[in-house]
Amino acid sequence: ITVYVPRDSTALALGANEVAAAIVAEAAKRGQQITLVRNGSRGMFWLEPLVEVATAAGRIGYGPVAPEDVAGLFDADLFNADVLAGGQHRLALGLVDEIPYLKNQERLTFARVGITDPVSLDDYLAHEGYLGLQNALAMQSADIVQEVLDSGLRGRGGAAFPTGIKWKTVLGAQGAQKYIVCNADEGDSGTFSDRMIMEDDPFVLIEGMTIAGLAVNADYGYIYVRSEYPHAIAVLNEAIATANARGFLGKNILGFGKDFQLEVRKGAGAYVCGEETALLESLEGKRGVVRAKPPLPAIEGLFGKPTVINNVITLASVPIVLARGAAFYKNFGQGRSMGTLPMQLAGNIKYGGLVEKAFGVTLRELLFDFGGGTESGRTMRAVQVGGPLGPYLPPALFDTPLDYEAFAAVGGTVGHGGMVVFDDSVDMAQQARYSMEFCVVESCGKCTPCRIGSTRGVEVIDKIIANANPANTGQRQQQIHLLRDLCDTMINGSLCAMGSMTPLPVLSALNHFPEDFGAPPAAVG
Ligand code: SF4
Repeated sequence: ITVYVPRDSTALALGANEVAAAIVAEAAKRGQQITLVRNGSRGMFWLEPLVEVATAAGRIGYGPVAPEDVAGLFDADLFNADVLAGGQHRLALGLVDEIPYLKNQERLTFARVGITDPVSLDDYLAHEGYLGLQNALAMQSADIVQEVLDSGLRGRGGAAFPTGIKWKTVLGAQGAQKYIVCNADEGDSGTFSDRMIMEDDPFVLIEGMTIAGLAVNADYGYIYVRSEYPHAIAVLNEAIATANARGFLGKNILGFGKDFQLEVRKGAGAYVCGEETALLESLEGKRGVVRAKPPLPAIEGLFGKPTVINNVITLASVPIVLARGAAFYKNFGQGRSMGTLPMQLAGNIKYGGLVEKAFGVTLRELLFDFGGGTESGRTMRAVQVGGPLGPYLPPALFDTPLDYEAFAAVGGTVGHGGMVVFDDSVDMAQQARYSMEFCVVESCGKCTPCRIGSTRGVEVIDKIIANANPANTGQRQQQIHLLRDLCDTMINGSLCAMGSMTPLPVLSALNHFPEDFGAPPAAVG
C-alpha cells in the first residue's frame, strides 16, 4: 500500500519527518509492506502533517497526525487495503480530493502540488508534466510568445505586467546572449506560493523557464531564491540535476537541437532584492540596490544583456498555457485578469493555506468560505492583501472581486496574492507604524523620499499616537496632515515600489480606521 507524508516546509515544521519515521518503524515492527512517498503539501495547513493512504476509491486522508497517533492508525487497520474503514477514525478526513477547501479550487498552476513526489520526474511525466515543453519545441519562438500573449497571463509577482509583452520585447532585442531570470525572492509577509511550487512541484518551474528560453532564444537561466528557503534550494537543485540527466535541460533538449542551462542562486536576505533590478545587481555579485529605469531589463538586464525576469508563479503558469492552449487558460478569470491566482491565507485565520482560484472570487469568499473566519473567533477587522506594501482593507470592501482592476479601483493591490488577516484586537495605528518601520529597515537607501521619509514617517506616527488624547486634537491633526504630505512625497518621489507603496498601508489605516489614531474631539453643545 502507498502512504503519503508531505515533505513541504510547513509539514516538516509540524513534525512530518517524525510521523514518516514512526510509520516506517511501525510497519517494520508489524511486518507490513508499505511504500512511503514524500509528496508536497496540499496547502491545507491546519491538517498538516496530512497522511494519505492510496485506495481504489482515491486517497484517504488523516490529519493532523502526530507520531503518537501512528500505532493507533495501524491498529485500526488503516494501512491495509480496507482503508475505507478510516471513516470511523477520529483523524479520518475521507477522500482528500473531496474536502471542500480543495474541491472548490481551480488548480491549474498547482495541479500537481501535494499529489506527486516533487523530485520524481517520472511522477511529473505521469501527471501531464512536460506536455507544454513538447509543444513548444515544435513551435517557432514568435508563436510561443504569441500563445503566452493570447493567454492574458500577467506577472504574478505583483506588478501584473503582461508576460507576453515582456517576452516579445526580449525576443526582439538584439543580443547573442539572453537570460531568463526567475524571481524567487518571495519576501512578502503571508506569502508562500512560490515556496510551495519550488518545494512541491519544481519541474513545473523548470519547464516554464525552459519554455521561456525557447520563446526568446535565451540559453541560460537563473533562479534567485531567498536564503530563508533551504528546502526549496535543495529540491530545485535535485530536480535540475535529474532534468539534465534525462535530457530535459542542457544541450540539445530532447534531441530538438535547443540548449537551456539552469542554475540556482541564493539571495542574501534583503527584501529589496525582490525588486527586479536590485535582484539583477545582487545576481551580478553586487549590493542589492535598485537601478534606475530605463533601460528596461528586457533590453539591458543581467550583465547588460536582454533578460526576461519573471516571478515563480508566472513562469510556473506557462507550461499549462502551452499544454492546453491560450484559449483554455484565458477562459478562467474575468476582464483583463485572466487565468487563476494561487492565493495565500495567513495571519489570524482559521483555515490558513493555499487557495488557487480564477480571478473574480471575492475577498469574502476567500476569507470566510475557505478561511473560515478568524482563528481567534473574534470579529475580522482588516485584511492586508498583497504583502507589506498592500493596503489594509476593512470589511466594507470584502465584496471586492479579486481582479487587478477591481482592486485598483478601491485603492487595493492584488500583489502576490498574500492575505494577512487581523481581528478586532488589532491597533491600526501600530500597524501603520509597522509599515513605515518596515520601509526603514528594508530601504536600499538609494533615494531620499524612501530612505529619510520612512524614518520621519515613524516619528510622525509616534507623535500622532502620543497625542491621542482629545485634549491634543489640534497637534494630532497637524501631525496627520504632515503624515499625509510625507506619504504624498514618498508616492511621487520614490524610485521603486518600496518607497512609493509603503504609504498605501499607512494611508489605508488612516482612512479606514481613523478611530485608532486618536479620539475625535468631544461634541460641543
Ligand atoms: Fe531604494 Fe527605497 Fe528608493 Fe526603492 S524607493 S530605490 S528601496 S531607497
